[in-house]
Amino acid sequence: MSRNKNLPIIQSLEILEIAAEGNALGKVNDIVVFVPHAIPGDIVDVQIKRKRSNYMEGIVVRYEKLSPIRVVPVCNHFGVCGGCKWQDLPYEKQLFFKEKQVRDSLQRIGKITEGEFFSIIPSDNKYFYRNKLEFTFSSSRWLTEQEIQSGQEIDDRQALGFHIPGLFDKVLDIEQCHLQAEPSNSIRLALKEFALAQGFSFCDLRLHIGFMRNLIVRTTSTGEIMVIVSFGEDNQGDIESTLRFLQSRFPEITSLMYVVNTKVNDTIFDLPVKLFYGRDHIIETMEGLKFKIGPKSFYQTNSDQAYKLYCVTKELADFKGNEIVYDLYTGTGTIANFIARSCKKVIGVELIKEAIKDAHENAAVNNIGNAQFFAGDIKDVFKEDFVIEHGRPDVVILDPPRAGVHENVINSLLNTLPEKIVYVSCNPATQARDISLLAHAYAVEKIQPVDMFPQTHHVENVVLLRRRD
Ligand code: SAH
Repeated sequence: MSRNKNLPIIQSLEILEIAAEGNALGKVNDIVVFVPHAIPGDIVDVQIKRKRSNYMEGIVVRYEKLSPIRVVPVCNHFGVCGGCKWQDLPYEKQLFFKEKQVRDSLQRIGKITEGEFFSIIPSDNKYFYRNKLEFTFSSSRWLTEQEIQSGQEIDDRQALGFHIPGLFDKVLDIEQCHLQAEPSNSIRLALKEFALAQGFSFCDLRLHIGFMRNLIVRTTSTGEIMVIVSFGEDNQGDIESTLRFLQSRFPEITSLMYVVNTKVNDTIFDLPVKLFYGRDHIIETMEGLKFKIGPKSFYQTNSDQAYKLYCVTKELADFKGNEIVYDLYTGTGTIANFIARSCKKVIGVELIKEAIKDAHENAAVNNIGNAQFFAGDIKDVFKEDFVIEHGRPDVVILDPPRAGVHENVINSLLNTLPEKIVYVSCNPATQARDISLLAHAYAVEKIQPVDMFPQTHHVENVVLLRRRD
């Protein structure tokens, strides 16, 4: 924690609460001070880094007193790594602040005071809950303050891990990540060791050169494992020896794939992913349904909680069996296929063509005949002619990205007036904004938050809206 003499320091600031986006805050004469790496009950000296008319932002330069509610983080990388920032908060408090975030957003942004609020559904797994992680190779490892201050020559600069928040070219070398079950850690450590032993170059994230680029590990609850290695050079000999090493060291990998990526960005969406060994997909199961997951397919990253989220969605919709349902922002059609047997017909719409292909395949694999899927931007697809062609929906499920729903989609909802809207959201702020735009025509009936991401401030929330008559 470096002090800058020219910036003011507030002494003995008590951290009072956690507000939107997981920001901890205290108050000085009614001016809010946002302070990362602090939790309610901490008393800290804060150096102010930014002043605005109605709030300030600072960093902790001294912990005068630690909050009595603090727990010891399990991870060695806590405080440096961008993930799992709430490890020092007990899990019940994490749930409390997530619920609060949902309530506050609905009240302050949405001006919504009605609706039955159900307690947040906790995650059974507090750690090791993710089914997908992506690691980056870098020739510029993030150095600790001790390493820098030691003044010693540092010759192991290679890292395989996660980006340091806000610094695109710095990667934290990860020794153990508590987010994904084994063999995720073993695969990452073994691959790094192999690449170093072979003398392979790690990616220079500024110059975009280097052989080893990314590692993606995806797992299913049924024990299938997909590994995708991204290489920055098309050197077939070294690619083969790397993949052969992984195959022999980890025979449990069911899908071993690779990509040659010589582009500036890391995304593999616009590149051919090649199969080296096994199948070109893994299969997740849920309530007897099978979901085929290819290397580019989206699947909710916490499978157990995804199941609970979909159950909540189905329960709130309370299908009688004769409904026409639109599942907007359907992704790979998981919700649509999950509810298909409970309604007359379901129509999924999604921007990404490949996801719609997966959605069709998933319907076919599960012998679902009453689900149809269409690719396109919802704001262009969900219009009067679409509704005339496919039938007026009785229920619309919305599951948009963080930005929420486009205004045109709100207008289409207000023109179509389905009896129920089930709004699944990963961002309570945009959800509250969207609901307020519907509020004159829809009553908020039920609110059910779900915790998909323990140790982070992220919260998923499902709201049932019913048309006012
Ligand atoms: N309901 C799905 C996925 C939700 S994620 C599930 O549970 O698996 C949100 C989805 O919205 C993503 O698949 C994203 O590609 C899609 N999306 C984002 N903007 C969109 C738009 N304007 N029109 C259609 N789909 C969009």
